Amino acid sequence: MPASADFVAQSFSEAFGSEPSGVWSAPGRVNLIGEHTDYNAGLCLPIALPLRTYAAVRLRAGSVLRLRSLQSPEQYELELDDVRAGNPPGWGGYAAGVLWALKDAGHEVSGLDLMLDSQVPLGAGLSSSAALECSVAAAVSDLLDLGLFGDDQARATLAAICVNAENTIAQAPTGGMDQSAALRCRAGHALLLDCRDGTVSQVPFDPSAHRLSLLIMNTRANHALGDGQYAQRRASCDEAARQLGLPSLREVAVGDLDVTLDLLSDDEIRARTRHVVTEIDRVSQTVALLREGRLPDVGPLFNASHLSMRDDFGISCAELDVAVEVATTHGALGARMTGGGFGGSAIALVPTDSTADVTSAVMHAFADSGFSAPHCFAVTAGGSAQRES
Ligand code: ADP
Ligand code: MG
Repeated sequence: MPASADFVAQSFSEAFGSEPSGVWSAPGRVNLIGEHTDYNAGLCLPIALPLRTYAAVRLRAGSVLRLRSLQSPEQYELELDDVRAGNPPGWGGYAAGVLWALKDAGHEVSGLDLMLDSQVPLGAGLSSSAALECSVAAAVSDLLDLGLFGDDQARATLAAICVNAENTIAQAPTGGMDQSAALRCRAGHALLLDCRDGTVSQVPFDPSAHRLSLLIMNTRANHALGDGQYAQRRASCDEAARQLGLPSLREVAVGDLDVTLDLLSDDEIRARTRHVVTEIDRVSQTVALLREGRLPDVGPLFNASHLSMRDDFGISCAELDVAVEVATTHGALGARMTGGGFGGSAIALVPTDSTADVTSAVMHAFADSGFSAPHCFAVTAGGSAQRES
């Protein structure tokens, strides 16, 4: 049974013995281009997926949190005051963290009953964690009249609260793109997010107008080394900015890249810096092409982005490389890994007529390589979080 507002409300009633006050939903996201740029004050360009997480919520008089999810057998019942770094452990930290972070931002919050159901695959690099946080945050903001689930400016504040929840309580490093996408995207558009100042602009993104499809290839690989590597990449970028005496790598103009690289201490830091600076430039070029109605010309930028992540940033893996390689040799105009790396998903820009061929070629290549079967599906740019009922 695919997740829906009705089904999660029914599941809530069965679990807690009465109806929820309402149901809110928030989407997963896929980043078109601009990877590992968010924590470098750079640019990224996510779209919201048509896949959503649904949260059925009812506030409680006291301060007890009761948390359930149809995606997990783990259930939680705890006091709001007991929420802290690492507690509750597991998925409960993402949900309880939102309440904690709202309190941390000065809002008065209460206990609640929560039931979740999601269409976003967990841990596939499509940001099920932000979809969870943002659906809960939207619900709590509406039910407590906090005014944070309103215009784009309010939603920017709510996104920052969700980032704090994920960083502090779930203790997962996240740079802010995911929560902004879940709360600020518009259907039919990609979201250009400038992570230096948090400003966004909407960029038309409609592959069907060009007889193209955006194909997600979820490799289902999830290499455990990912978390430590993310922290290392962040540290390398911080170190590069420190050596250059800059607040962030965003301040390096792509035209100054060669002279800038000469100032850095070693080849690894140079390669990490080259990825970040060229990737931010590729986002700008992508946005310019989309605004000119030249989506097919974005393909080569996807390919260059993948090589940059594979060779300079060192965050790809065999499954992602096979998906990208096979997609491009079977008709994709461009393909790249997306998300943090070391597994998760890749995307390909494919003539709609060729999506079945590309999908089948990727499935075969994975089987030949001894990898688990990937999940390939086409997506359109959906809307952001909303109240469902
Ligand atoms: P991604 O955000 O790319 O899916 P993360 O590792 O950031 O991957 O987040 C996945 C984690 O988020 C899961 O392991 C789980 O703890 C939590 N999560 C997300 N959605 C749900 C859900 N619907 N129910 C329970 N936990 C969820
Ligand atoms: Mg996540």
